[in-house]
Amino acid sequence: MVVAMEQWATEEQIAAVIARLQEHKLDVHRSTGTSRTVIGAIGETHMLDLQAFEVMPGVAEVVRISEPYKLASRTFKREDSIVHVGDVPIGGKEIVVIAGPCSVESLDQTRRTAERVAAAGARMLRGGAFKPRTSPYSFSGLGEEGLEILRTVADEFGLKVATEAMDRTQIDAVVAYADMLQVGARNMQNFTFLRELGKTRIPIMLKRGLSATYEEWLMSAEYIMAGGNHDIVLCERGIRTFETYTRNTLDIAAIPVIKKLSHLPIIADPSHGTGRRDKVIPMARAAIAAGADGLLVEAHVDPDHAFSDGVQTLNLDQFDELMGQLRLITPVLGRTIR
Ligand code: PEP
Ligand code: MN
Repeated sequence: MVVAMEQWATEEQIAAVIARLQEHKLDVHRSTGTSRTVIGAIGETHMLDLQAFEVMPGVAEVVRISEPYKLASRTFKREDSIVHVGDVPIGGKEIVVIAGPCSVESLDQTRRTAERVAAAGARMLRGGAFKPRTSPYSFSGLGEEGLEILRTVADEFGLKVATEAMDRTQIDAVVAYADMLQVGARNMQNFTFLRELGKTRIPIMLKRGLSATYEEWLMSAEYIMAGGNHDIVLCERGIRTFETYTRNTLDIAAIPVIKKLSHLPIIADPSHGTGRRDKVIPMARAAIAAGADGLLVEAHVDPDHAFSDGVQTLNLDQFDELMGQLRLITPVLGRTIR
């Protein structure tokens, strides 16, 4: 349930409500928005008499959250959340572009890519050091050496780093080198991993599972939030459908739906979402027009020789073209881009 306080409610009144909820052994989360404080209480609330809270001084409204996800829901928090990845805010007015190769292959490849994507306006560098691959014989990343490369190169060009950890044993290394930890599509429902991430304080990019519903996706975000880490950015990366022409079907409708159901920021990945280089720019435009807070885009200095996902990876001229187009679109949407 959610207890929304009046705008003029005092700290004592807020504390009294929190204490009363805690008497009922509920897990209490306070969210202080620009206009008012909202208190979320999770646990066995069905036996509670809501009126007993409604009459407490300073209380504006008490509502039950009907959705199975609580902390992630719009009912819990009406205002959009902004996730700060260092000095990069995701979920505000600015469209944030995270770009880079599928995999970190070498210092030279990463540096040449990063230099150009930074110059074109990307705020963050992506690149896999630990790669989830369908075949055990495929290139699976440089591991810690890859993380070091990402950090060095990102610092050189003023970028933040987003990279994937595939299991709990990789969390510490990613936290040590990166600014944002990516949970891959195949791990979206790895619940023990999600619980571990709840204990960290690094911003999380939670990719949608290959066949996950919106509710399942938000429940995965809830796992991380229930552990205490509320800095989550959702990433629509395409789902499996009957269509085989594209690698996945980028579900653009997910963007307005998630915006309605949740306060969390959402970005789109048109690279994995289509699997084809020539379809990335149009789908990126569509995602931004639909309200996405940013993009995750694969770009590479020489995509035809990339170790992974070359077919869906933009070359650096195409990346410039994408940014140029986004710069035309964003003002119409009332947003900004670097
Ligand atoms: C990636 O971003 O390179 C990746 C492996 O993504 P996904 O988990 O969405 O397949
Ligand atoms: Mn990839």
